[in-house]
Amino acid sequence: MNVPSDTAVGRPLGVLAALPEELGDLLATMRAEAGVATHTLGRRDYHVGTVHGAPCVVTLARVGKVAAAATASALIHAFDVDAIVFTGVAGGVGPDVHIGDVVVGDTLLQHDMNASPLFPCFEIPLLGRAQFDADRALAAALADACERFIAEEGTMLSMRFHTAPPRVHRGLVISGDQFVASAQAVGALRAVLPDALAVEMEGAAIAQVCHEYDVPCAVVRTISDTADEHASTSFASFLNELAGAYSTGILKRFLTDYARAPRGR
Ligand code: SAH
Repeated sequence: MNVPSDTAVGRPLGVLAALPEELGDLLATMRAEAGVATHTLGRRDYHVGTVHGAPCVVTLARVGKVAAAATASALIHAFDVDAIVFTGVAGGVGPDVHIGDVVVGDTLLQHDMNASPLFPCFEIPLLGRAQFDADRALAAALADACERFIAEEGTMLSMRFHTAPPRVHRGLVISGDQFVASAQAVGALRAVLPDALAVEMEGAAIAQVCHEYDVPCAVVRTISDTADEHASTSFASFLNELAGAYSTGILKRFLTDYARAPRGR
């Protein structure tokens, strides 16, 4: 299947999350704006339309690196997206990264890739690199949207869930096919990857596919837990109560600006 984008409005932005809660009001906004055309491919629904004025293809990857890579590949090849943005939650691993903070990935790495001694630990065999960069302009625009969201809605959020006002961090996001849920596991990650701010299960797989096809990408993650023994309960309540509010607030600001000044047009 190759679904052509509407050339009159330009190539769409791929917007991706793992779980429905992480999309916030995106699909409802798309339905209200100009209608949605839904295409099913590889057991996923791809929703094509306009959100806050920006042409988008919105979909759910489901969980893990293979799911994320397959979905990113379909967005590139079947939907001809101009760029990919991932929105979701993650475990905080940086010492100053707290529940309710937001992390925008500048670089991404697969923390469970280890083909040593054949290749250095974390390096993707035959690709010659371990780290993948987010697109600088997209990451900067996302971080700007996060800052404005927190300035405008952070007090309400901190009153509902978080004692300190939320902060925006930028740096290394690490991905693997594990839900990290023990102080010991976080300690082991910190020991080998001291710069890591957040751990999740999809971002670096998307970044690898986007690198291989020269498609710009960016990842924004709200911290739902601190990847310790409380992670599963904290993750579940954050996902139900707040993940949607963060994605809604961040993407509204990001997409409104993107519609005014999309990449390459
Ligand atoms: N469908 C299940 C499992 C979700 S797995 C459920 O809803 O309960 C956790 C998801 O949140 C993944 O998509 C991952 O990217 C992110 N995540 C949040 N906290 C994480 C952590 N501590 N370790 C790894 N991934 C985490």
